[in-house]
Amino acid sequence: MALDKEMFKKELKQRLRENYAMELEDATEQELFYTLGTLVKARYSDAWGDTWKYYVNKKKKQVYYFSIEFLPGKMLKSNLLNLGILDMTREALADLGIDLEKLAEVEKDMALGNGGLGRLASCFMDSIASCALPGNGNGIRYDYGLFKQRFVDGYQVELPDEWLQSGNIWEVRRESKAVNVRVGGHVYLTKTNNGKLKPIYENERVLRAVPYDTAMVGYENNVVNTLRLWSVEIPDFEEDKYQSIQGRRELEDLTAVLYPDDSNEHGRLIRLTQEYFFVSAGIQSIIRRYKKRIQKPIQKLSEYVSIHINDTHPALCVPEMMRILVDEEDLSWEQAWDITVKVMSYTNHTIMAEALEKWTIELMRRTLPRMYQIIEEIDARYVRSMQEIHPHDLVERTRIIRDGQVHMAHLSIIGSHSTNGVAKLHSDLLKFVVLHDFYIIYPDRFNNKTNGIAQRRWLQIVNEPLAHVLDETIGKTWKQDSGDLKLLMNYQSDQVVLDRLAKAKKINKQALADYIAETTGIEVGTDAIFDVQIKRLHAYKRQLLNLLHIMKLYQDLKENPGSNMQKRVFIFGAKAAPSYHYAKVIIKCINEAANLINNDPDINDRIKVIFLENYNVTLAEKIIPAADVSEQISLASKEASGTSNMKLMLNGAVTLATLDGANVEIRDAVGDDNIYIFGLTEKEVYEYYENQGYSAQQLYDENPVIRRVLNAFIDGTIPNIVYEGREIFDSLIKHNDEYFLLRDFDSYVRAQEEIDKAYGDHTFWQRMSLINIANAGRFSSDETVRRYAEDIWKIEPKDSLVAEKG
Ligand SMILES: *Cc1c(COP(=O)(O)O)cnc(C)c1O
Repeated sequence: MALDKEMFKKELKQRLRENYAMELEDATEQELFYTLGTLVKARYSDAWGDTWKYYVNKKKKQVYYFSIEFLPGKMLKSNLLNLGILDMTREALADLGIDLEKLAEVEKDMALGNGGLGRLASCFMDSIASCALPGNGNGIRYDYGLFKQRFVDGYQVELPDEWLQSGNIWEVRRESKAVNVRVGGHVYLTKTNNGKLKPIYENERVLRAVPYDTAMVGYENNVVNTLRLWSVEIPDFEEDKYQSIQGRRELEDLTAVLYPDDSNEHGRLIRLTQEYFFVSAGIQSIIRRYKKRIQKPIQKLSEYVSIHINDTHPALCVPEMMRILVDEEDLSWEQAWDITVKVMSYTNHTIMAEALEKWTIELMRRTLPRMYQIIEEIDARYVRSMQEIHPHDLVERTRIIRDGQVHMAHLSIIGSHSTNGVAKLHSDLLKFVVLHDFYIIYPDRFNNKTNGIAQRRWLQIVNEPLAHVLDETIGKTWKQDSGDLKLLMNYQSDQVVLDRLAKAKKINKQALADYIAETTGIEVGTDAIFDVQIKRLHAYKRQLLNLLHIMKLYQDLKENPGSNMQKRVFIFGAKAAPSYHYAKVIIKCINEAANLINNDPDINDRIKVIFLENYNVTLAEKIIPAADVSEQISLASKEASGTSNMKLMLNGAVTLATLDGANVEIRDAVGDDNIYIFGLTEKEVYEYYENQGYSAQQLYDENPVIRRVLNAFIDGTIPNIVYEGREIFDSLIKHNDEYFLLRDFDSYVRAQEEIDKAYGDHTFWQRMSLINIANAGRFSSDETVRRYAEDIWKIEPKDSLVAEKG
């Protein structure tokens, strides 16, 4: 039933009385937020139950997206939007003297992920539901999300993220769906009467996995899917084994914290147990539902279930499915293997060697003995079957167990029917370089699925001024079909539309300027170029290259104060993994350079450097609508796709990029004239690797600009970085600049000079911005998940798309 403003107000007051025995005027924002949350939940609970029943009754094939990270951010406004009641709610609350934005601020940012990988999983959850596709997420309910970042004296300090402290309104604990997961101990195989091998477990630990479900509400389509996150508990029958507080704590630690490392594997025992815990719980619950609700023979599983392995962290899906099919369902190995490969698919997210997940045999055997036995068998059979058709070397290089280690990417490829990369360039690198051996063996398994973003969140919700201009200019169909953003191309020479877009951007820049003033005390003007680099801090992403350019501008201005360059505000947002020393050194240097520049009277506010603390989804939502320039400057070949590049483009920022990841496809979408490309290509980078011809020292000796900039790190120009500056200097000169910053420096500076010129011509700039918005539709994750659904998962949308609006 439709909800109008008057009903809404009545219901809100009534719920407030029921929940808190309170009247509106006495309630705090916290109480109002929770009350509004219960109201929103009530709006989707019927659809949630109905969606689930529909999938079961129609025996719809479903996909389960396994990911060790999800990064949804805040969900209030997204749920309101998708239920079709965002505007009504805002107005109704305003009538009551309540600001929706204030209530939305109360919600904790759900940060159960590090960065791009987890955010992608959450964009997919939104899009799967919004495309009416039968799909669910499966992950871990960490008690503590990604750490909170503070700067103290310019250094990063990490604080715990107690996101559950005041409860989580969106989750539903489902005690009745708990399952047990066995880890540790020993497993022996004995022969049963009918000659089959049966595993006997000894001294294993039993963990109780309790699911917490969160509704994934589709956009105005009455579809509500489920994100299921698992939490560990002590099973009742094991209570007496956990007498000591320490023993209990050790077990409960399993789902306590998210590993705060991005693109780096630590190989720690608890991480491997985490991986098995959510994989085993998830697969057990899938099989249980299949048997109870679908009631088809287990041999037909792949017709009803698809499981996606998001990066290698859930790679144990392969042996765990084998365990259940062979040990518990009594299938033959061959039958079980056939089913497993058909059910599983895998996405590769990186080619960085240090991020490729491996576990020592010793650790795997000790932690997960039955898993290890099954992996050994998979590996042995793989070698046997492949050595008949392929050269020995090739088989050895691709096997799962080699050099005393279990290779999780190999397990994922061998145990699934599809391996995809996340941008065209990345998928080609997989096929022809990084995973070329596997491509020879399984050419049909490789495919590309370029990443995408949930454009509802990243435009409609976060950038209302722009959404409003779009509605006025091209109508509202772009909200259902992001391809219709293209209609904006008809207005690229329409001065009125260009002015409106500029005005919307100005409003967003003012909002960010206010936030900057509030949080840092620094005033920035909206007439400056807002130049944004927001992403995890990592050497390959080259925030340091950005800093080198800033230092060059600073030195230019000191020398020539009369220069007529545009004003710039350089904005950074980035967390460094707590154990990533070099990344933390870069943070310190940026902060000290910012201090120097922001307070130098000679600079006279021509450049400002703002490093905002605690980059997360909520902060991204504030920065992105205000950006003029999107810095996507990773060394070519290193960034698999990137997604902040897409978010910024959609919001009218002009991209300054290397030809890396999805930047290549952004260039194809907007054309060379509406993007600033610089730097080595992926081919040139690989050529340097081959001929070893790179000398950073030579560039330093021959290029006076580079020399002056680098010297600033060691001659006291930037204060308070005696050790850090030396470390930066040495990494570039002594250790020969692993990511070719100095090689790309000149061409980066030239691209920045072009941007400076272009920004001076307002119409020219605004047209570029328009063309970026107009061509961003192809990066909608709706499109991405539809391609996964058709090519990989083989699932179909719920047929009735007729919306009965909330
Ligand atoms: C989109 C997003 C990312 C990914 O950014 P990249 O620049 O693609 O690495 C990381 N963190 C957050 C909070 C995001 O919203």
